[in-house]
Amino acid sequence: MTMHLIVAEKNISARRIAEILSEGKKLTEHRDAGVSTYSFGDITTVGLRGHVVEIDFEPGYTNWRSEESKPRSLIDARTIKIPTEKKIVALLQKLSKRADRVTIATDFDTEGELIGKEAFELIRAVNTSVVIDRARFSAITPQELQHAFSHTTELDFALAAAGEARQSIDLMWGAALTRFISLAARRGGSNILSVGRVQTPTLGMIVDREKEIEVFVPEKYWQLSLDTEKCGERIEARHTHGRFHEKSPAEIARDRTKAPLVVTEVKSGEKQDRAPSPFDTTTYIVAAARLGFSAANAMRIAEDLYMNGFISYPRTDNTVYPPSLDIEGILNTIRNSPFKKDVEWVMANRRPVPTRGKKSSTDHPPIHPTGAATRELLGDDIFRIYELVLRRFLATLAPDARWKTLKILFDGGGEEYTATGGQLVEAGWHTVYPFSEAQETILPPFVIGEHLPLKKVSLEEKETQPPARYTQSKLIQRMEELGLGTKSTRHEVIAKLVSRKYVEGSPLRPTLVGRAVTESLEQHADMITKPDMTQTIEAHMQQIKESKRTREDVIRESRKMLHQAFDQLEANETVIGDDIRNRTAEEMNLGTCPVCKGTLAIKHLRGNTQFIGCSRYPECTFNIGLPMAQWGFAVRTDEVCDKHHLNFVRLVRKGARPWDIGCPLCHHITTNAESLTEIPSMNEALAQKILTQHIYTVAELARSTRESLAQRLDLSPDTAQKLISDAGSVLEKLRRRSECRKFMRDHLIPRKGRSYAKILTALKTAGITELSGLAHADVALLKEAGIGQDEAVQVLAEAKTVYYGQVLKEIGIPAVSLKKYVSAGITSPEAFCNQPPESLSKRTGMSPSTVQRHVELVCTYLKKPVPKKFSKLQIERGKKELLAIRGIDRTTIEKLSRAGIINTTHLLESDAVKLAAETGIMAHVIQDFQKAIQKKRDNAVIQI
Ligand SMILES: [Zn+2]
Ligand SMILES: [Zn+2]
Repeated sequence: MTMHLIVAEKNISARRIAEILSEGKKLTEHRDAGVSTYSFGDITTVGLRGHVVEIDFEPGYTNWRSEESKPRSLIDARTIKIPTEKKIVALLQKLSKRADRVTIATDFDTEGELIGKEAFELIRAVNTSVVIDRARFSAITPQELQHAFSHTTELDFALAAAGEARQSIDLMWGAALTRFISLAARRGGSNILSVGRVQTPTLGMIVDREKEIEVFVPEKYWQLSLDTEKCGERIEARHTHGRFHEKSPAEIARDRTKAPLVVTEVKSGEKQDRAPSPFDTTTYIVAAARLGFSAANAMRIAEDLYMNGFISYPRTDNTVYPPSLDIEGILNTIRNSPFKKDVEWVMANRRPVPTRGKKSSTDHPPIHPTGAATRELLGDDIFRIYELVLRRFLATLAPDARWKTLKILFDGGGEEYTATGGQLVEAGWHTVYPFSEAQETILPPFVIGEHLPLKKVSLEEKETQPPARYTQSKLIQRMEELGLGTKSTRHEVIAKLVSRKYVEGSPLRPTLVGRAVTESLEQHADMITKPDMTQTIEAHMQQIKESKRTREDVIRESRKMLHQAFDQLEANETVIGDDIRNRTAEEMNLGTCPVCKGTLAIKHLRGNTQFIGCSRYPECTFNIGLPMAQWGFAVRTDEVCDKHHLNFVRLVRKGARPWDIGCPLCHHITTNAESLTEIPSMNEALAQKILTQHIYTVAELARSTRESLAQRLDLSPDTAQKLISDAGSVLEKLRRRSECRKFMRDHLIPRKGRSYAKILTALKTAGITELSGLAHADVALLKEAGIGQDEAVQVLAEAKTVYYGQVLKEIGIPAVSLKKYVSAGITSPEAFCNQPPESLSKRTGMSPSTVQRHVELVCTYLKKPVPKKFSKLQIERGKKELLAIRGIDRTTIEKLSRAGIINTTHLLESDAVKLAAETGIMAHVIQDFQKAIQKKRDNAVIQI
């Protein structure tokens, strides 16, 4: 049996390819270790997950602080390929052992060629003789695939080598520089400062723009305009001088402008409005941005549409449709979409030749639709992108639009004004492409010499504007112009800058760290921040693709460049490190400490602890607690509190909405206000006074000393002492409450649609805020609060164990003994006082004297009598008595003594049912014993 294996770039494309090529033959899906394959006839398709191997340094370079392998050593370090998708690699090799033909059908670009080459190497490693060919296509559609699979070629090793060179160079630049800068600035863990070959010059552009904006000095200028009217319509005309850079000439012109307004010239003309050129990646991203899609999102959706056969491959530099593109066929296909009317309009009004852009390349055609889709099928967002691509395609086939233009000159007292109008006389491509606005200004007809009224003359003062910050799409355009990155990587680079917190906002602004790193590098190693070096490398990639240079040769040259950069860097290591540290420390500063006028800053400690502390610590201990970092990493925002002049704080967490704390001091005051009012000796006036003395929490009051507090708050020492001890008890209460909350959180299983807050509020209403209350609550009450029956029983039992454990510990029972009591089922303090110590000793296995000591402790604490201790003699005598009763043997005596029953009197006086539960002896048996004892006693009395 023969097998033809087709290797696609992703699972979804493997499935699509199989669906199309099987042409209705039976298609079976197999799953092997979670990886799907699709088979029909003798063909099997399998999808990779993009790269299934990763390039990394050979072992020995993981320690950042190693003396032998300093960051610079990474430049010359050898690299190896490590499988990252082990299951896929294993399956690919298993299948290729059996295959007699393998076709690589990964995406058709440098990255795809490299992914294909990685698969090639994995296959060759297990099967040296299998035929391996390559299918290239720009759209996952029947025509394209049939053509590609019947015209397979060889893998393009030169193209793959260019991709490999880029990988190696990016790894070595990124790793060596990131390590160097992070170590110099003493940053590690999640705080490292990443530097990259394309990333850093891109960041440099954003920082440069920000600096231009900062140094920009706005200039005033004046604009003169007038309003007139014709046929009931208001018409605005502007002074032909344009901008006046000084006020007085503008004012003179204004004052000279007099009625009547005379038409001196009427110029009408026509303007051709060319239909737009086909989409390449960059123009597509720009157009999608106008619809509100970020670059990364636009690319993700486009890839999705490609994989599903609705549009062609979206990573392309081409803006000219190749002659081979079947435009007629495409029109017929998309005629079945909801845009039937537009398609038919274009079919009837085709321009002779489609429009073309400036860039022409041979790899992929411009982005165009390949299949018909509906809104129901795609969902709103994806459908909007599909519509954009489809309409753009239609627009490139539609005729140009024609405008009628009109320019009128007016004279008013010797001053000349002009009004312009534009009217769309032939809508052309605008009919099918509503995404670029065609603003019409329709003017009524004018005749030379005509007099018009002068309604209003206005002089406006304006200011020149600074250059605009980059939007994502503008930045991508600029990167393309400068040769930074590729069509496939540009949007990823920007996303990386955002995720590394080097830039923020929309349009993009550098953060303090982004700026510190860039400026420091600019000053001390400018070849890393300038685009020139990266452009050179891109040019080298091109040479590899054209087989003019080898990969090794290019990497060697890149190593040399990086060594030069390191010469600069190492010479300035201390300066760079200090520089970055000094500048970035500021990013955590919030403002002035209210207590000592030092600086408040967010501090992050190991183990997720974060708080706001004072720069004058330990002299000033003022601090504000923050939630643990797993609730969000605390950062400063630009907003500032009007009252406290502190920057706002925000907690940010990946994949979650940010949590805005606001002004940390306002937050601190509000969260503590309620607990402060719980202090009995607190009143309004005192509350105000403590705030002005910068005391915000109960804890601070409780920690104060009598003298200092008396002095600070101007109180008598006794009053101060009362306040301190009141605060102490409130603090203890708060501690117990938070303990209770934590207990509930730890013991209730998180469940959808149930909130702890709700349960806690319900319990609070029922008066339960502490563990002691919870331990004494009943199941019904917990159920009322929203906890299920079984869970309530469990929570109660747990609460009892925990709470009584605390009480017993407080009484003085050592933790080790406590454990033994608990595992013997003795959890409440009362249990210590209602049974003889012997039984406790037997049940726990602890010595009678130890147990006796504990029992005395507990019962004294509870103010209950200590159960009697029995002497050996008493015990022996009791045994004899008991053995004399019919049915009682040594085992029974053993059981009874554990329950504190050591003689017939005890047994007679005990409650049979309770004793049964405690001993495991059946109640009716105990009742029989009791009857026997009674009978014996009766007999004894008679005998007397
Ligand atoms: Zn302070
Ligand atoms: Zn505030």
